Amino acid sequence: MLQGRLPSRVFRILKQAGELAERTSVSAFVVGGFVRDLLLGQPTLDLDLVIEGDGIAYARALARPAEAEVKAHDRFETAVIVFPDGFKLDVATARTEHYEYPTALPTVQRSSINEDLYRRDFTINTLAIRLNPGHFGELMDFYGGQRDLNKRTIRVLHSLSFVEDPTRVFRAIRFEQRFGFRLGTETLALIKGVGKIDLIHRLSGSRLSEELILLLSEEEPRKMIARLGALNLLHFVHPALKWSARLDVLLKAVPKVLDWYKRTSLNWADRKVSVAGASSGSPADLMDGWLVYFMALMEVIPSQAVGETLRRLKLSVRHAEKIRVSRDSSSKLLRRLARRPPLRPAEVYRVLVGLSDETLLFLMAKARSESVKRRVSAYLTTYRHVKPILTGTDLKTMGLKPGPIFKKILSQLLSARLNGEVQTKADERNLAKRIINAVTP
Ligand code: ATP
Repeated sequence: MLQGRLPSRVFRILKQAGELAERTSVSAFVVGGFVRDLLLGQPTLDLDLVIEGDGIAYARALARPAEAEVKAHDRFETAVIVFPDGFKLDVATARTEHYEYPTALPTVQRSSINEDLYRRDFTINTLAIRLNPGHFGELMDFYGGQRDLNKRTIRVLHSLSFVEDPTRVFRAIRFEQRFGFRLGTETLALIKGVGKIDLIHRLSGSRLSEELILLLSEEEPRKMIARLGALNLLHFVHPALKWSARLDVLLKAVPKVLDWYKRTSLNWADRKVSVAGASSGSPADLMDGWLVYFMALMEVIPSQAVGETLRRLKLSVRHAEKIRVSRDSSSKLLRRLARRPPLRPAEVYRVLVGLSDETLLFLMAKARSESVKRRVSAYLTTYRHVKPILTGTDLKTMGLKPGPIFKKILSQLLSARLNGEVQTKADERNLAKRIINAVTP
C-alpha cells in the first residue's frame, strides 16, 4: 500500500528512515494521521515519525546526507526535518505524558511506541507502521484503530481523555464531520459529560483557538459548528454563542463567497490586463478563510461577548482587529451600500477602501441583496486596483506646485476614472486643468 499510494520520493524517504533506524539500533515508525489517511485511501504527505530512542539525534542523522535542515525542540525531544525542496518530516521520541491536573501542559518521559500511541486522542489516530527493514510496512494496531476505521467510529482511548484535554472535543467533532464518521456511544456520552463540567476557564485560550482555527479551516465548518451546537458545546467558545437559524444562514453563505474569491483570484492575472491603470498583485495567499467563519460566529453574540472572546482566545492583534471592524461596522456599511439611488463606483470605493479582504468577504456573505453583493465584489476585483494615469510628476510638469491640491486632484481623477468619466491620459489632463482653474482665483 505504501508503495502503491505514495509518491516514489516519499516512499524512498520512508525506506531510508527504516534503514537508518536499523543501523543506529533504534525502531522507527510512521504514525497517526498519515497512517489513518493512507488506510482511508486519501494519503497525505504530513509525515510523523516516532523513534524508540533518541529522536533528535536520529533526525540529525537522517537529515545529514540530504543536507536538510533540522529544527529541534529539546524540551519535547522532537524535531522537524526540512529538506532542501521544502518537504517536511516531523520526528518525535516515543514518550508518555503525565498531566499534573486536568488541562495542564503535560510532563514528558521517554517510552515505547505502544505507550506513545496511548496518549493520542482517538483510536483512529493510534495506528503506526514499522519502518525497520524486515518489518517494513507492518501495521501496528494496539488500540483497535483499524476496527474503528472500518466501523467509521471516533472513539477515545480512555474515559478521562476529554478531561485531560477538552480541546479534543473540537478534534472529535472535526474528524467525525470531515470523514462522515460517528462518535462511539461512550465517547458521545463523555463529550456530553464534559459539556456539563466547567472546564472552560481552566483551558488555555491559545490551545482552544488553535483547535478552533483548525476546525474553521476545514472544507465544511458549518457542519461542525452545527454539531457542536446540537451537543451544546459552543459555549466553549463563549457562553452566549448558540446555534441559530441566523447563524446557519451566515455559515451557508460563507463558503460560497470563499469559493468565489478563490476562483476570482485564479483569474487575477487576466483581469489585470483588462482594467485600465490597474495595479498588479494577487491577494490570494493573504486572506484567511477561517477568519470569515469566525466573523460569522461573532456576528450572533452581543458586542461585549465579542471582546471577551477575543481576549480569551488570545487571537493576534491583526486578526482581532479585523474581527472587531467587521462586527462593529458591517451593518452600517451594508446600509450605505444599499442606498438609493444606487451608489456610483467611486462612492462604493470610498465606502470600502481600507477594509481587509476577510471583512469584504464577510460583507458579501452577510448581504441579502444581490446588488449590494455585486458592489462589494466589483470593489474586490476591479475598483480597488484602479489608479489614475496621471501621477504627481505629471502634475508638476503641468506647472503645479506640490501641496494638498495634489491629493485633491488625484482623488478626483480616481473618482472620474472609476465612474468611467475619463478614458485617456488627455481626458485626465483636461479634468486636472478644470480642477486647477476652479480652485485658483
Ligand atoms: P489532520 O489531518 O487534521 O492534520 P492529524 O491527525 O495529522 O490530522 P495533527 O493535529 O497534525 O492531526 O496531530 C498529529 C497527531 O497528534 C494526531 O494524529 C493525534 O494522534 C495527535 N494529537 C494531536 N492533538 C492531540 C490532542 N489534543 N490530544 C491527543 N493527541 C493529539
